[in-house]
Amino acid sequence: MQLLELKDIYKTYFLGDIDVPVLKGVSFTIEKGELVALMGASGSGKSTLMNILGCLDHPTSGQYLLDGHDISHLSADGRALLRNSRIGFVFQNFNLLPRTSALDNVMMPLSYSTEHLSDHQARQRSEEMLNRLGLADRMNHEPSQLSGGQQQRVAIARSLINNPSILLADEPTGNLDSHTSEEILHLFQQLNKEQGLTIILVTHDAAIAHHAKRIIRISDGLIEGEIKTDEKIIPDAGGVK
Ligand code: ADP
Ligand code: MG
Repeated sequence: MQLLELKDIYKTYFLGDIDVPVLKGVSFTIEKGELVALMGASGSGKSTLMNILGCLDHPTSGQYLLDGHDISHLSADGRALLRNSRIGFVFQNFNLLPRTSALDNVMMPLSYSTEHLSDHQARQRSEEMLNRLGLADRMNHEPSQLSGGQQQRVAIARSLINNPSILLADEPTGNLDSHTSEEILHLFQQLNKEQGLTIILVTHDAAIAHHAKRIIRISDGLIEGEIKTDEKIIPDAGGVK
């Protein structure tokens, strides 16, 4: 089932007299339950595209369909509502609130949710989430008291607390050593496989992109092509007897 579709998306930043065209006609679709990497060199427009996918920004032109609804022209308030209920974000720098416990960081998005949980319910759900992500004994630690990998796990717990339909991760392992990166990528694969969570992994690194099932390559604001990472190479029929 198709979850989202971009149709000929353009994004130009207007800086005084200067126009900076960044996305130049991007189209693709993502199905529910996919684990996709969006790969491209630094400056190719990945974060700009992620901001549009995550309803943080709107395209200059083109259509963005989420569950078949065109959301390209939503107001800032409409985008915020959609974002809070449907989309989880994970960033390179974790973006946790400093001097705030892991538990309070994870509970925070629940206060913007339309679910209106009681304090007790919010705390319980957040504790369960931290538990699931292996942080049962770190709930009362502040970010500065956690390793990079643990901080990213807290950020992932926070991104999942409102049961989003899409998880957007922008260079989520950019600040982690290779061993911890593998752990975090494995966690994304597990969330995708076991819970059917749709995940878009943004990266400049081919080795990281290969943890996804499909890689969409972006270059200078255009989609260059895509590959399926589990695709078998089919031998040329002419060579097979
Ligand atoms: P990536 O994430 O692939 O490194 P970005 O989407 O961050 O690429 O940036 C793509 C291009 O858009 C860069 O040349 C960058 O300077 C420009 N850009 C990004 N954000 C803005 C902005 N808010 N205003 C003007 N130019 C921007
Ligand atoms: Mg970027």
